[in-house]
Amino acid sequence: MDKEVFVKRSVIDSILSYAQICHPRESILLLKGKTDKKKIVISDVQIPPLATHGSSFSGFPLSRLPIDFSVMGVAHSHPSGALRPSVTDLNKFYGRLMLITAYPYQTEQNIIILDRKGQPQNYKIL
Ligand SMILES: [Zn+2]
Repeated sequence: MDKEVFVKRSVIDSILSYAQICHPRESILLLKGKTDKKKIVISDVQIPPLATHGSSFSGFPLSRLPIDFSVMGVAHSHPSGALRPSVTDLNKFYGRLMLITAYPYQTEQNIIILDRKGQPQNYKIL
């Protein structure tokens, strides 16, 4: 991807702690922020409006999300500890970025961000 990716520290912390709370279920959060020609900045997370207890990313109806141009993508957790996207993940890509956090959800070492091609992206924490 030709844009630089920036993520606020508070977003990283929220994603990690939400994944810990949901474990061993999968957690799903919307990544909110803005983009311009050069960069994508993720500044906030939001629990998806249709999320229910026990919902997983693979079972989540992304097509029913309201159109919201501040949503840059979706974050979800892998309770299995696998820090890589599944085939289903790549088929369900929503937005510009996909963030995956894998068990044990301790630091950004347990996080990857992917572009639509499934390529891991370097990102900077603000
Ligand atoms: Zn996944």
